Amino acid sequence: MRKPVIAGNWKMYKTIGESVDTALSLKPLVANANHCEVVLAPVFTAIKTVADRLEGSNVNVAGQDCSTEIEEGAHTGEVAAFMLRDAGARYVIVGHSERRQMYAETDSMVNKKTVAGISAALTVILCVGESLAQRDQGIAENVVSGQLRGGLSRLTASDLDRIIVAYEPVWAIGTGRTATPEQAQEMHAFIRRVFAEGHSASAGAAQGLRIIYGGSVKPENISGLMAQPDIDGALVGGASLKAESFAQIVNYKK
Ligand code: PEP
Repeated sequence: MRKPVIAGNWKMYKTIGESVDTALSLKPLVANANHCEVVLAPVFTAIKTVADRLEGSNVNVAGQDCSTEIEEGAHTGEVAAFMLRDAGARYVIVGHSERRQMYAETDSMVNKKTVAGISAALTVILCVGESLAQRDQGIAENVVSGQLRGGLSRLTASDLDRIIVAYEPVWAIGTGRTATPEQAQEMHAFIRRVFAEGHSASAGAAQGLRIIYGGSVKPENISGLMAQPDIDGALVGGASLKAESFAQIVNYKK
């Protein structure tokens, strides 16, 4: 049985005070949600305060990104994965399409971030997904399998249970346009097959892999998505900014 994960990506929204207010409003609303892992990803500057205020609750904190560098050093503007852990994060998102598109992150960089996250004992949420043009050209599967293989190279069998894959078709992020449950299921099943091929030595790893969906997930569409056999949760942007709508998504039981 794969435990679902519902993660909220707050992107570059909210001050520290606003982040704490939303996190504290969310906490009682999801206090009984033991059926899934609940994760919030505030901006870097709010991680420590939010994590402290959520301590002892079932809401975990994530970084939205981390450095490719594992060790501390002269890397102005970067935050190492172990520093996220030190601030109270237990998860890190890597390879989000906004980082790939706006900050030219390559698969090789995403792989280094994945390795850094694992070496800091964080659970890594690795984002993959095709653009609309790539889907229209019929190369969505090639793109996603390339991102998956690139992002996961150099990992050992024992690293695999620290990985969650987020399938986020770029055309569905922040656009209000969700992939249909069937489109998402098709790609999630494909991702599980690619993962199984790449890690055939680790029996059961692919069956245990959590693959979550992201792209305009809202309280209104979570049930259709979660009804699909290979959809193990959601990465939620816009609808995670308000405690009430995020809580409705968290509290939906498959
Ligand atoms: C995201 O930021 O990962 C995301 C899926 O955003 P939205 O839910 O707003 O589409």
